[in-house]
Amino acid sequence: MVVTLNFDDFHPQSGPDGDFGGDPNSGTFRMILDLLEEFPGLRVTLFTVPSWQDRPYRGPSKWYHLKRALGRRPVVRGWDGEPFRLDKHREWCEVVRNRSAAGRLELAVHGLHHHNPNLVIHGQEFLGLDREETRRRISQAEKIFEEVRLPFVKGFRAPGWGYGPETLRALADAGYDFVGLFGSPYQLSKPGLIEGMVVIPQNYSIKDGADRALAVALRDGVVHAKGHTAYCYGRETIENGLSPEYFENLRNSLRALEAQYEVRYQFLSEYAREARASLASS
Ligand SMILES: [Zn+2]
Repeated sequence: MVVTLNFDDFHPQSGPDGDFGGDPNSGTFRMILDLLEEFPGLRVTLFTVPSWQDRPYRGPSKWYHLKRALGRRPVVRGWDGEPFRLDKHREWCEVVRNRSAAGRLELAVHGLHHHNPNLVIHGQEFLGLDREETRRRISQAEKIFEEVRLPFVKGFRAPGWGYGPETLRALADAGYDFVGLFGSPYQLSKPGLIEGMVVIPQNYSIKDGADRALAVALRDGVVHAKGHTAYCYGRETIENGLSPEYFENLRNSLRALEAQYEVRYQFLSEYAREARASLASS
């Protein structure tokens, strides 16, 4: 039974607003490291944001809706001075690099800033961007990873699942290998290809219990487990974030899967490679 596990929004921020994995010694990042210890075969793909710019929205939500309705820009402001750009967190990068060199963590690309100043509070950076600007941001994201010597794979999930009409073509131009897509018309139960890139459907959320993981395994023959790192940001609740409760769900699910099956853990990039080969031969 192939099992993959991935989290969105990984970047070096953890504090009272939210914990996206900024501290290897506590919280979300610690939980991920604990999972790696408990399950020696486990591999985790982290959709990482190289310069996170979303800032918790502190104003009344009616202001936010009013500004949007009146077309006032920006609707929401990001952080000033790119405080979470990876090159400002070299020690954090070193911890990530070590786990990644040990074959336990894999970084994929989750945008450049995650931020869209004109649209929504949380994410959807790529909605409304043309092909050239999309390419520029992807290339800038890659440059930051390279500059801090963090290896990454050519896998992408758009912040807030927000794909603009040009996003996929820009990713294909940039040689991307796999994408995480969600929602119609891309909802698939099996891997497929879009613009030459492998689409990997997610079929298990860490908020679901072990019964669900076993049912998914039986139905699909593979479990793609997905969560977010932070479970809240300011006043905002983030779906399937790695809270202590969902951490326990995930542990129980992995234990149940290992009790029932011979589990083979894969990174998403490894799964994509095999999926591409089997799609090509079928
Ligand atoms: Zn995200």
